[in-house]
Amino acid sequence: MICAGNWKLNMSPKETTVFLEDLKVKLTELPAEQFIVFPPAISLAAAQQALSGTGVGWGGQNMANQESGAFTGENSINHLKELGAQYVLIGHSERRSLYFETDQLVNEKLKLALSKNIKPIVCIGETLEQRESGQTKEVLATQLKLGLKNINSDQQMILAYEPVWAIGTGKVATVEQVEEVHQFIKSFLVEQLGADFSQQTPILYGGSVKPTNSEELAALESVDGFLIGGASLNVESFVEIYKTTVSA
Ligand code: PEP
Repeated sequence: MICAGNWKLNMSPKETTVFLEDLKVKLTELPAEQFIVFPPAISLAAAQQALSGTGVGWGGQNMANQESGAFTGENSINHLKELGAQYVLIGHSERRSLYFETDQLVNEKLKLALSKNIKPIVCIGETLEQRESGQTKEVLATQLKLGLKNINSDQQMILAYEPVWAIGTGKVATVEQVEEVHQFIKSFLVEQLGADFSQQTPILYGGSVKPTNSEELAALESVDGFLIGGASLNVESFVEIYKTTVSA
């Protein structure tokens, strides 16, 4: 059960080192491979140093759709790769809403990451307004159709369903809502890319996951792990969430 921590714009290089040294101690009896962290770009070198040889995955929270050139402030997938990152987050709702990322841009980034053998975690999710007007499945289908356009069915990636209204709000989706959406995503993937692709593509849930709600969500067959924001900033709660998935 994957536990991926999205640190957003938190954790300086020094804080990253302190956090990861603590995490390594706590992971001595847990499978390190199930943990992934996404520090801010400036702290990635600290993560690389702390995590080298541990099995804990790490990656960038974002990447440019170009490899290099006049793109001030962007992060290159080539630089992520050189540093040793294994993962990259693509299309997080904050990137979509605050930085106007479109499904087409998500698709360009996805194809570039795949071409470099960096495993993408592609985030999708509906807003509260879209959910309340009954558009959830339509919105997700569009995000998947455009975001995953021209992807080969043998390519490896992870999807994260993150209802926008549940991110950082303390409002967690109910098990029924998560199950319904994850099943919808799975059948959409079967239809568009085939049963093998659907089977090999983990679907994470994200949105106010905490140790107090993770166990019941982890018990759902369609949930393959979590993308965790706030609760991943604390080593204890991050590890505790994983432990609840084992007992689920
Ligand atoms: C996220 O940033 O992807 C997220 C799910 O945040 P939080 O857990 O804080 O809702």
